[in-house]
Amino acid sequence: MEKLIKELAKMPGIGRKTAERLAYYILRLPAQEARELSSAIEELKKNGRNCLRCFGIAVDEICHICADPKRDNTVICVVEEHKDLFSIERTGHYKGVYHVLLGHISPLDNVHPEDLTIERLIERTKNGTVKEVILATNLNVEGDTTASYIQKRLSALGRRDIKITRPARGIPQGSYLEYLSGAVLANAIDARTTF
Ligand SMILES: [Zn+2]
Repeated sequence: MEKLIKELAKMPGIGRKTAERLAYYILRLPAQEARELSSAIEELKKNGRNCLRCFGIAVDEICHICADPKRDNTVICVVEEHKDLFSIERTGHYKGVYHVLLGHISPLDNVHPEDLTIERLIERTKNGTVKEVILATNLNVEGDTTASYIQKRLSALGRRDIKITRPARGIPQGSYLEYLSGAVLANAIDARTTF
């Protein structure tokens, strides 16, 4: 029990109290559900990798979102991290595809554009199917810097048929996407404005 609590408490946002609550929850789980939980963790670690197209989490070469014919691949939503993709997916509202940057530009931390997946994003927008790129980076200095850089790069392509937008309404400056409520996030993506 103590071992499990210790491991859980290492997770982001999980303090000792929450770790204890989770451990007791797991203790009371029916055996089958506990097995499913541990095998989900094992499978993810064994088979999880970045999607070759969007850098989201995939089991195969292409993730289930990129592979879904019902998703609108004319719209790409650019996010910093996998957790941001999950936050937007949870709203159940967005029907386009994604591009995960795997970070943000931050010269102070020695993270430069070439350390992210920006080149691959530029490549993706060149094939003629993309009509809109939503820059859904966090609304803080790093997120804004990253969005501005990508906007410049996309504009430099001279493609007037690609709209560049940014979610806006209801998101206060300084916000991290992952902490927004589903309703606020869905609303902000709906109400996105030209960047
Ligand atoms: Zn993908």
